[in-house]
Amino acid sequence: MITDTVAAVSTPRGKGGVAVLRVSGNAAVEIAARVFEPKNGRALCEIPSRVATYGTVFVTEADGTRAAVDDALATVFRAPASFTGEDTVEISCHGGVLLTETVLTALFAAGARPATAGEFTKRAFLNGKMGLSSAESLADLLEAQNREQLLLAHSGMRGKTEAKSAAVYETLKHVLASVYAAIDYPDEDLAEMSRAEITEAVASCARSLRQLAETYRTGHAVAEGIRTVICGRPNVGKSSLYNRILGRDAAIVTDVEGTTRDLLTDTATLGRVTLRLTDTAGMRETADAVEKIGVERARGELENAELIFAVFDGSGKPTHEDRALAERLGNSAGTVIALLNKTDVGVHQKTVDFCHTLCKNVVEISAKNGSGFDRLSALVEQLFTDGSLDLRVDAVLTNARQHAAVLRALEAAERAEAALRRDYPIDLCCNDAEEAMAALAELDGRTVSEEIVSEIFSHFCVGK
Ligand code: GDP
Repeated sequence: MITDTVAAVSTPRGKGGVAVLRVSGNAAVEIAARVFEPKNGRALCEIPSRVATYGTVFVTEADGTRAAVDDALATVFRAPASFTGEDTVEISCHGGVLLTETVLTALFAAGARPATAGEFTKRAFLNGKMGLSSAESLADLLEAQNREQLLLAHSGMRGKTEAKSAAVYETLKHVLASVYAAIDYPDEDLAEMSRAEITEAVASCARSLRQLAETYRTGHAVAEGIRTVICGRPNVGKSSLYNRILGRDAAIVTDVEGTTRDLLTDTATLGRVTLRLTDTAGMRETADAVEKIGVERARGELENAELIFAVFDGSGKPTHEDRALAERLGNSAGTVIALLNKTDVGVHQKTVDFCHTLCKNVVEISAKNGSGFDRLSALVEQLFTDGSLDLRVDAVLTNARQHAAVLRALEAAERAEAALRRDYPIDLCCNDAEEAMAALAELDGRTVSEEIVSEIFSHFCVGK
């Protein structure tokens, strides 16, 4: 049970047209009323919910007198119909840096304590206003860097994943009730479901969970981003490719070999997916101590990559360095796309053939003039996302925590289904059904540990 009242500035720090301060908790209206007075002569506690009211913001001086510092709007949201589920007052004052600080300090002096990072959202979660995956989606919405991430985060924030997991949870609860009734009162016909119906219900839960688990492939590619490494021998155009995908000159491009010595990493959008893109030092044997470390780091990155852009100079013949790279790529777990670069200059058949023996994904591009990038993004989308998913409406898992919980629920549901199909005593499915329910309760946060909750909300900013 949360009893204290918190306050924070919810808009970013800095000079702006308007700043919004939020006060939330049992004493929110009382505290805000010590700072804000409506001009219409009514007390703040008499103002109806969700109606913006014009008024004056006062601060109390050291000698106890009050001074007006701004004209502002205040809106009262009464529990439980507020974002946090608690009484909340939002004060929209003018967006001066000192002014905003002064109003916030006045709210603290009036009895509020400073909100911690993400505390308003955490309160919303603790008060049952949103599930944990919705809260995670809200954090994603604030961090979104491309349109697909926005659509996905917004749909997640509306509770799509929780609705799907709740449907499975309810079915399993129903199944358990039937099984327990049959066990406890074997002579009476209390069980609502027959064994065949129970088996079918559990099987349908497993199907739903399998389908939900599969959405993580797309959710990961869009929300978290695919760990992608660009590699190739010096001068094939790796840095030019990196810059073109990022849409800016982030890496130095020259025709001097060995320019990129360290790893460069940034987040980029390619079509519908997000790449956590790393440019690496050109793969070659070198005596230069610094470059050597760079080449080692590049090799290390290859081991962790989910996607590898192996770049070759498509206008020339393959070299022994290209062959050495191809050999190394044969052992990597990531998906390899061979990119024949510099095709604006020409396309050498030997390199084309060489790339086709290396992997089945080959794209001809020019980092210089941008040709081939549409095909490249279509290929990456095809390899890493499920085109039939509609990010605006479908439930999509967007992070590893959600995926792990759904996988645990799925495995337990599959075990329960197998036990039912094998004609084992019917109560043998109960432990597994309960385990699946426990995993789903963790997914939406009903039973998640305090440590995980704190970790999730610590990624929010103060005021959210
Ligand atoms: P890296 O060493 O593999 O990172 O290669 P860079 O990106 O530094 O490029 C090496 C040289 O190749 C530079 O002079 C680039 O301008 C040139 N280059 C890169 N991509 C292309 C391309 O698609 N076409 C042509 N004609 N030149 C390119």
